[in-house]
Amino acid sequence: MSAWDAVVVGGGPAGSATAARLAADGFAVLLLDRAAFPRRKPCGECVNPAGVAALQRLGALDRVLAADPARLDGWRIAAADGRAFLGRFPSGVHGLGLGREVLDALLVDHARDAGAEVRTGAKVVDLQRDGTRVTGVVLEDGTEIASRVVVGADGLRSIVVRRLELLRRPPRLRKLALTAHVRLAEPLGGRGELRTLAAGCVGIAQVDGGRANVTVVVTGDEMHAVGGDRDAYFDRALRRCGLNAERLDEVLATGPFDWPVRRAVADGALLVGDAAGYYDPFTGQGIFRALRGAELAADALHAALRAGDATATSLAPYERARRHAFGSGERLQHLVEAFVSRPRLLGWAAGRFARRPALGDAIIRATGDVRPVRSLFSPALIARLVA
Ligand SMILES: Cc1cc2nc3c(=O)[nH]c(=O)nc-3n(C[C@H](O)[C@H](O)[C@H](O)COP(=O)(O)OP(=O)(O)OC[C@H]3O[C@@H](n4cnc5c(N)ncnc54)[C@H](O)[C@@H]3O)c2cc1C
Repeated sequence: MSAWDAVVVGGGPAGSATAARLAADGFAVLLLDRAAFPRRKPCGECVNPAGVAALQRLGALDRVLAADPARLDGWRIAAADGRAFLGRFPSGVHGLGLGREVLDALLVDHARDAGAEVRTGAKVVDLQRDGTRVTGVVLEDGTEIASRVVVGADGLRSIVVRRLELLRRPPRLRKLALTAHVRLAEPLGGRGELRTLAAGCVGIAQVDGGRANVTVVVTGDEMHAVGGDRDAYFDRALRRCGLNAERLDEVLATGPFDWPVRRAVADGALLVGDAAGYYDPFTGQGIFRALRGAELAADALHAALRAGDATATSLAPYERARRHAFGSGERLQHLVEAFVSRPRLLGWAAGRFARRPALGDAIIRATGDVRPVRSLFSPALIARLVA
């Protein structure tokens, strides 16, 4: 008999939120992370409006607001040719900017306060199995931990996904992101900026403590130009963008991001957050998907654990709920990437959106998950775009 109802691998937003929800439901939950918190994580560090709502449903918004996050009212998107448009969230709705070392530590605390046991410095290297059924995890130091179910919330290069052989294919979208905090000579206020370049883009947004996050994403041959000195490349990118900014910390690098999975459930295991499949960070929806995915995962796990049946079949409703919740958002991410990777097309679209502010608002609200993606394909909106 396992001591744990659920072992959650990874204490990012997906893992902490899943652990908090299950623990609050009375299950015995162990949350494991290889890192010690607070720890930095390469990310644009913007929680979109639907992510803010998800933090509230989790009961964690008050502690997040106490950390003094920046408020985000919309985004300015600039094409490489200089054409740009502004998209605003609806009035009374906003996103938040907060360093991931702050946000993630707060969410781990939230899981602990909800009753989950948290172990950091605990790197999972393998899964235990009984036939095809996952029955626990193995840590780097050889410790074996049995559990009725294992939740893979361990991000992009998930060990749980690899051990379950659930990766659909290797990444096709080759990108590298460089992230650091800076102090801007002229703070942006409540508007984030995305500037696309000939080979990549730069995202800039205020976060907490007067800091701003700058994330430089490079593609194609430009990735070689980064070489071994990411700090120097990042500083050059700031100057190329005309940003008067002082870098405050070491540049973090990550990529590629495109890691699709075949499915998000297995016998005795379930995937959530980036581990359950990721494509591209441009639309900034990852934290929302992690938190919303945690809600869906906790519902499915609750039912499966109560029924004493955590097989892939009994967890299948989670798979369907994810498709329903995220399917159209994923199609939008692919569409946005098609524009971003074609500078002339993006320039054309930015010019159109600049002349018709409602179009800019519509796309930014869809990526903020406050407007259904299907509304972007309404005949009226398409007519306005091509008119
Ligand atoms: C460049 C970039 C910019 C982004 N910008 C934004 C943005 O502005 N807004 C937004 O919403 N999203 C953004 N995202 C996406 C967002 O960062 C992710 O979607 C989000 O972090 C997913 O959360 P998670 O909990 O699934 O995974 P993670 O946050 O990656 O957490 C995974 C955790 O698992 C732990 N772990 C990993 N392996 C093991 C192991 N073997 N054993 C134990 N623990 C392990 C890690 O230490 C980590 O703490 C961006 C992503 C990138 C790459």
